[in-house]
Amino acid sequence: MLDLSASAAIAEIEAGDLSAAELFAFYRRRAAEHGGDVEGGGLNCLTWVAEGVADASDGPLAGVPLAVKDLFCTKGVPSQSGSHILQGYRPPYTATAVKRLETAGATLLAKANQDEFAMGSSNENSAFGPALNPWDRGRVPGGSSGGSAAAVAAGLAPWALGTDTGGSIRQPAAMCGIVGLKPTYGAISRYGMIAFASSLDQAGPLTRDVTDAALLLKHMIGRDRCDATSLQFPQEIERPRAERLDGVRLGVPAELQNPGADFAGAEVEPSVRAAFDRALALAQELGASVQEVHLPHAAHALSAYYILSSSEASSNLARFDGVRYGVRATDSTGLLDMYTRTRHDGFGAEVKRRIMLGTYALSSGYYDAYYGRAQRVRTKIAEDFRTAFADVDLIVTPTSANVAFALGEKTADPWSMYLSDFFTVPMSLAGIPAISIPCGLSESSDAVGPHGGGLPVGLQIAGPAFSENRLLDAAHALEQAIGFPEGRARV
Ligand code: GLN
Repeated sequence: MLDLSASAAIAEIEAGDLSAAELFAFYRRRAAEHGGDVEGGGLNCLTWVAEGVADASDGPLAGVPLAVKDLFCTKGVPSQSGSHILQGYRPPYTATAVKRLETAGATLLAKANQDEFAMGSSNENSAFGPALNPWDRGRVPGGSSGGSAAAVAAGLAPWALGTDTGGSIRQPAAMCGIVGLKPTYGAISRYGMIAFASSLDQAGPLTRDVTDAALLLKHMIGRDRCDATSLQFPQEIERPRAERLDGVRLGVPAELQNPGADFAGAEVEPSVRAAFDRALALAQELGASVQEVHLPHAAHALSAYYILSSSEASSNLARFDGVRYGVRATDSTGLLDMYTRTRHDGFGAEVKRRIMLGTYALSSGYYDAYYGRAQRVRTKIAEDFRTAFADVDLIVTPTSANVAFALGEKTADPWSMYLSDFFTVPMSLAGIPAISIPCGLSESSDAVGPHGGGLPVGLQIAGPAFSENRLLDAAHALEQAIGFPEGRARV
């Protein structure tokens, strides 16, 4: 009965048919019952759940509960970024994105599990264990915002916040059959988001539908004097209403069809290809035109991304030294030894791998060969998009080459894990907005969930900087036509 989209719940609250307290109690119970650890029968997607009933809340978001990725600082509430090094850390302040939503009337319901410091594509790098995919508990929910995506898909929270550095909102949204939006870089303040790679990190919504994504975005955007990279968004975010795509020119990048020969073994799954092709046909029925576009440097995006993001991470994560936050090694013999032991014990293997990669890429003598070169590739990729957007309004790709994979399937091979982001990383490097919407279910026999009928496939739609309204409208029209069985993963 209360299984509503957030926008529908707000309408009911405003009409007096539902109280915010009732809604909060409903979700609090569900979150506590199904969000906890696997031994207790949960999805392990929530690392903290609010106690008691929230106070009545005014504002356009009408008290609707919100799950927030662990890496957002929330005052007095554990904010651990999926890491042992921050275990038990309770920040003295709240991230701007969360604060703005609270000011608009949202209520903090839960913190969501994630890959450690947002490094990962499966949520298996969390110090708190992997979150499970509610469509099939033997599979990953995607990452790094896997806990947020799983919680929304399972109906443990009406909506959630995630962050996306190279695909971490879009890819888990695709794998859990929900909507995920990465806004234009700078649209939302990063103040209070525990940093991974500052030139790429962006917050964004994970929601049941496109309308909810627009509503969350609307209340988070805008310049914040605490983040010098945040921008005044040039328009208001509107409620998307489009039902048709007449006159919309969609581009399908030739270079983003398949990871291809350069990336051995990484083919787009046939069932993903089939769902993508069906979505393109549907877009044409709705009036869109489809043409091929070229992003000549996009195939190098992944390589550039791992140099740049690891370099920035090696610098950002230097602050975790056992002095100011989180866990400190107690058995050390002196200051240097304390730093070393704290970092040795506190960071997981993937984080250490990135710190080492990044430190190497930034070291003197190698800087130009790696970091400088990756920066130049990044510029080329941004130019490629600008050129392509002279001919088309939006660019479409599958969100991920594969549907949710089995737990443990890719953990031994970092490169195959990194390939999960082949389609999402180029937009991150270019700083442009992109949304993933569910576009169907896989049909191949190896990817059929316990509910039958396959696992969710995501469609990625990208647009030029600040084209969020256009993006949301197109996503809305397609969403209406696709009619994805979004509620099937509810626990
Ligand atoms: N999976 C990518 C990585 O591991 C992207 C992560 C992200 O967007 N936070 O870096």
